Amino acid sequence: MELIEIKTGGVFVIDMMYTGTENMMKTDVYTRVGLGNHCFIHPEMYAKLQKLAPVLVERGLKLKICDAYRPPLAHKLMKKIIPMEGFFAAEPERSQHCHASAIDVTLIDAGTNRELEFPCRVDAYTPEYADQIAKGEWTAFKRHLKKAGYGWTAPQAEKAIANRDMLRRLMEEAGFVALEHEWWHYNLPDKEKYPLIDFAISPEGKFIFTPRA
Ligand SMILES: [Zn+2]
Repeated sequence: MELIEIKTGGVFVIDMMYTGTENMMKTDVYTRVGLGNHCFIHPEMYAKLQKLAPVLVERGLKLKICDAYRPPLAHKLMKKIIPMEGFFAAEPERSQHCHASAIDVTLIDAGTNRELEFPCRVDAYTPEYADQIAKGEWTAFKRHLKKAGYGWTAPQAEKAIANRDMLRRLMEEAGFVALEHEWWHYNLPDKEKYPLIDFAISPEGKFIFTPRA
């Protein structure tokens, strides 16, 4: 099946966080499975992003995409590295990323090229928590992870919360569905209709996507 690749340009910045090691696993899983820094999405998601693009231009913003299609094999590796419940979905079948129907995003100020302030980074990542998780210490991270949800507030965080809520408005107006416990994650509606998609690389180095029956 055809997935569409979005590349950095215009209002989109592609920075797939599992390509390098700056993520909660400290491991370049996407590089290991051969996907690299490639952002593949379902055509229906592409259409919604095209609708969002002029709105971003008007507001002087760019959308940074940190995760999109995730090969099921990559998901299995990720779950093995971080088995913590409530972080990565238990099975690839339950992660919309493996169906090419989810993206993780944040906003960049197009003038300064800097990321706007949010309650936490995408995936609630910090190098310190990644180090703790690598040692099997999850208590502090679990507390920090509360900042990922829409229920989180704090007196000094008005700006971060306003940005989080603005992102949600923009994404919902473009037709995306928010996830209550992760401000950066957006699904396509009717998520049941998207099959799990397997990934392979042809001998010529071409990416091949096959829906699982
Ligand atoms: Zn996500």
